[in-house]
Amino acid sequence: MERQAVLRAREAFLSGRTRTLEFRLQQLQALLTMITEKEAEISTALKQDMNRSQYDTPLLELISIENEIKLAIEKLAEWAAPRPVEKNLLTISDEVYIQPEPLGVVLIIGAWNYPWALTLLPLVGAIAAGNAAVVKPSELSEYSSLLLRALLPRYLDKDLYPVVTGGASETQELLRQRFDHVFYTGSSSVGRLVMEAAARHLTPVTLELGGKSPCYIDRNCNIRTACRRITWGKFVNCGQTCIAPDYILCEPSVQGQVVDRIRRTLLEFYGADPKCSPDYGRIINQRHFSRILSLMEGYTPVVGGQSDASQCYIAPTVLKDVPPHSRLMQEEIFGPLLPIVTVSDMDDAIRFINEREKPLALYIFCSDKKAVRRMMEETTSGGVTVNDVMMHYTLSSLPFGGVGHSGIGRYHGRHSFDQLSHQRACLVRTLGMESVNLARYPPQDRRRARRARMALRSPLIDTSKRTLVWAVVATVIGLGLLITLVVILLIAAGLNCTCWYWRGFYN
Ligand code: NAD
Repeated sequence: MERQAVLRAREAFLSGRTRTLEFRLQQLQALLTMITEKEAEISTALKQDMNRSQYDTPLLELISIENEIKLAIEKLAEWAAPRPVEKNLLTISDEVYIQPEPLGVVLIIGAWNYPWALTLLPLVGAIAAGNAAVVKPSELSEYSSLLLRALLPRYLDKDLYPVVTGGASETQELLRQRFDHVFYTGSSSVGRLVMEAAARHLTPVTLELGGKSPCYIDRNCNIRTACRRITWGKFVNCGQTCIAPDYILCEPSVQGQVVDRIRRTLLEFYGADPKCSPDYGRIINQRHFSRILSLMEGYTPVVGGQSDASQCYIAPTVLKDVPPHSRLMQEEIFGPLLPIVTVSDMDDAIRFINEREKPLALYIFCSDKKAVRRMMEETTSGGVTVNDVMMHYTLSSLPFGGVGHSGIGRYHGRHSFDQLSHQRACLVRTLGMESVNLARYPPQDRRRARRARMALRSPLIDTSKRTLVWAVVATVIGLGLLITLVVILLIAAGLNCTCWYWRGFYN
């Protein structure tokens, strides 16, 4: 079944129909129609999967997919066009450019926490770049996966973009097949297996992984606003967001205020009992429910802490004075627990962050611009948002991805197109001007070798249209000035002669 899907996709790719931009645009348009027409069904599936609020579904997933499709439709011709590059003296009269080309068949493996965005956003890139793609949604978001499997073939080319459902064994069977790119979203441990499997075929990978994203609150900031933004980012989707702030770092002097503000915000967002709030989600399954509860063992929460196994419910929970080396601080939480670790100052926070794996996201709340710049310069992360959380994800112009243990590669907007394209280096020469090439042919002598060295050492020249236009404009203006000058001189000389003539006449 898995093998058949890959073979069909490969055959469909080799038919060449994805090469034309018209075909890609038509498929992107069909995907957009699917998202718009089936919003209600998608919302219901997410409600069944994780009690996602119907209002959150467009906000957290569908709008970003729509935006990405619209952007790809608008920009495809520009993205897919040859990109002229600088030349050297030897190639000055040749065509030199980068041509983005389809890679072939892409395998997209999605995670369950945002089952639509994590499969369809890479698919938008794959379609735009002219690839075929086998889509493997997560088995944990079961309702969404089955709906995706039912919907996609109704709107898109069935052979080019098959959906394969199933868990670890089906994914492993897929990974035994040969792909031209594997795009995986999920945990780092499975990411390793994916990379190993891909290495057997020398297949390149994009790994969108997770990790612990720190959130630093400086004493010099509006703590009330900071805590509102953090509370939203941490507890939306019940904490099951790869770029959710995993933990807070702050000075002991502001810890009490932070706890108090988060408590008040939770009351405002979800009421006295979040279990009854239509806006508060559930943990995806019992395994993750038990895993998250076990992380809390030994702590007395200062906010929340309640749970109900029958509903996979865990209340929004805050834990203070968490020791830096506790288990809670070793693994990604991926649930509604928010530990606070105290640090003595910003330097201590920077040290804390740099002692750990490079995070997927970093959040800095601070009103001092100089201090913010310093923290950005002295740390690293896949992405960073200052004075807010998660919002860098919403910008298609920014590449989204990790660094080090939080991932390999990037996507969103043009970055998805580039990530799933081959950037082919093209040099198109003519067979004329052979004398220019003599210097590199044998038999060599000192003169030829000197000429060849000079030519090869010539700097790169930008012959792009804009530079040429400026060169032409400058030449025209220069010539104009020169002609004007000559005319003025001639007139002046003429006047001089006339004066001499009249002077002679009167004399
Ligand atoms: P998951 O369990 O749904 O697994 C992801 C995919 O891997 C699924 O399609 C699943 O079928 C497949 N899979 C699971 N076990 C496998 C195995 N042994 N062999 C082959 N395939 C296997 O999702 P998850 O891993 O629990 O997802 C949560 C993690 O994903 C978190 O760490 C989170 O931070 C990360 N994540 C990252 C991003 C991002 O964009 N960087 C987005 C969402 C989630």
